[in-house]
Amino acid sequence: MTDPEIYPITGDWTNASLNPKRYEDLYEAAASSPGSFWLDQATKRLDWIEPPTIAGDWSFAKADFHIRWFADGQLNVAANCLDRHLAKNGDTVAIIWEPDEPGEAARHITYRQLHAEVCRFANVLKAQGVAKGDRVTLYMPMIPEAAYAALACARIGAIHSVVFGGFSADALAGRIEDCGSKIVITADEGRRGGKRITLKACVDEAASRAPSLERVIVVRATGADVPMGERDIWYHDALATVSDICPPEPMAAEDPLFILYTSGSTGKPKGVLHSSAGYLLWADFTFKIAFDYKPGQVFWCAADIGWVTGHSYILYGPLSNGATTLMFEGLPTWPDASRIWQVVDRHKVHTLFTAPTALRALMKEGDDFVRRTDRSSLKLLGSVGEPINPEAWRWYHDVVGEGRAPIVDAWWQTETGGIMIAPLPGAVPMKPGSAAKPLPGVMPQLVDDQGTPLTGPASGNLCITQSWPGQMRGVWGDDERFFQTYFTTYEGKYFTGDGCRRDADGYYWITGRVDDVINVSGHRMGTAEVESALVLHEAVAEAAVVGMPHDVKGQGIYAYVTLNAGVTGDDELRRALIAWVRHEIGPIATPDKLQFAPALPKTRSGKIMRRILRKIAEGDTSSLGDTSTLADPAVVDDLVANRVV
Ligand code: ATP
Ligand code: MG
Repeated sequence: MTDPEIYPITGDWTNASLNPKRYEDLYEAAASSPGSFWLDQATKRLDWIEPPTIAGDWSFAKADFHIRWFADGQLNVAANCLDRHLAKNGDTVAIIWEPDEPGEAARHITYRQLHAEVCRFANVLKAQGVAKGDRVTLYMPMIPEAAYAALACARIGAIHSVVFGGFSADALAGRIEDCGSKIVITADEGRRGGKRITLKACVDEAASRAPSLERVIVVRATGADVPMGERDIWYHDALATVSDICPPEPMAAEDPLFILYTSGSTGKPKGVLHSSAGYLLWADFTFKIAFDYKPGQVFWCAADIGWVTGHSYILYGPLSNGATTLMFEGLPTWPDASRIWQVVDRHKVHTLFTAPTALRALMKEGDDFVRRTDRSSLKLLGSVGEPINPEAWRWYHDVVGEGRAPIVDAWWQTETGGIMIAPLPGAVPMKPGSAAKPLPGVMPQLVDDQGTPLTGPASGNLCITQSWPGQMRGVWGDDERFFQTYFTTYEGKYFTGDGCRRDADGYYWITGRVDDVINVSGHRMGTAEVESALVLHEAVAEAAVVGMPHDVKGQGIYAYVTLNAGVTGDDELRRALIAWVRHEIGPIATPDKLQFAPALPKTRSGKIMRRILRKIAEGDTSSLGDTSTLADPAVVDDLVANRVV
């Protein structure tokens, strides 16, 4: 491929909080004396009941494995997100809530109001016997009560486990049982894209398979008529008897804050466990530094709170910083592909943080939906969840941001708690498709399959060699699985599971999951590169490639392609696309088979499940593995029926 473009730091961003020199200095400070760097950040950025005197205390070695940060400190996460802002910023809007239905009144909740709501919710939980260390499952629509509930748990020291409201009763039951939660907080129904989601009915169904469940608190959201049984109570009834005073529970730094199950792109979801202080510091620090947040700006992370992105960048990161965070109940593409930009205009959004899957869906509908809106408030863009194809990157930059807004392509994982690698605005010039450089405190290393570190420009397996405050602390109930999954592939290092290339400028390019690497005649290829080449073609909206057994080459390339609206897939186009990839990357990347697919199998968070595509390409459709996080199982039937043989 040709040398990638570089987008220098321009416009407003030459006055960002960080500049290239300051970034280098911070990175160097965190690398050379992590102890004092993080103690300093922790005491400056957070409010402590008992300030810590130690920072990181950890070892990734088998004999002595442990991870602790600020272990002798005490704080309360909710107090950091609420109470400390009241004196000066009590009337600042904490949450702007934009409802599903366009035109319906939005809600503005100030820090003072949010504080009162959280205290009341906390008292409801206490009245139900919820105590420190208990697990509470949230199965909620994107309504402010979801934020109240999560923060209420944090306030009393209960561990929340948020399950995305689009998951089935089965998936919900599995997650309730896995962490042994006795209580579920839900709503009568949710709304999304004009449709109703029957949350309470799903909880009822899950309850029969989740014997640990004793109590269900139901928030009235749509007013639907839902049957209430013995285990159910209405939130508004429970509120009648509680006060809005609830002192925050002092928590040890290492006490767990939440459990969150991963997306399930590569297998059975893991119950990722995060700590109180280390996680909060990471969410707080990365929010500030990656988005250069300044008071008065409206920040919109268009994820669902059911994903870690929602945890760290709708709730904890923004609220800890006293920011104004936008919470959107609906879908970016409903009623049409203009909605997301209309919301930007309505609330004068400064920063938008979304996912490549959403961008590709919007791009497919054409530029007109964007151009008919103003978007002049929009000064910063973010992308997360998958590698962003350079084609989508340029569209986001040129059409959406009209060239003025940098793109923060943020690489991280549920396991990392917050952003790890990203071009910090004002500090790091961008290259489309590259997550660029590590944040201060992040020590990435590329290793070959034997674990030998690679230096300079190289391609390999992405590891992190030093602990950072936001690192996960365990897999719930399975310490052995934690160690086995992340620390045994390459001894003494945290292995991310991702493949990555580092270029001559030290920029990191995530090439996809290591499990998805394709080996054609001894040449290893990441899925991202081949997919990006396909997406570059004007007929293509989205693509996924996987390896398939090949007699001669060992592995061949099987490509699944979704076409743009109005384009028909015929043999001529198939041949043209195959020739296109050959021309873009080289003969080695020529797809052996190409199937037109009306849609690709994705997780509920919008990530392509390549392991299912691999099975289909191999013709092994009898055992597709864990499909509980699949968004639309019908997609798979179509792919199987139209397999190219
Ligand atoms: P599971 O671990 O259950 O298979 P998952 O890995 O999809 O699911 P997440 O923690 O939601 O669960 O996703 C993290 C992964 O998403 C990363 O390991 C990486 O593969 C991908 N990813 C996230 N952000 C980026 C990005 N900016 N660029 C490239 N890849 C990204
Ligand atoms: Mg993962």
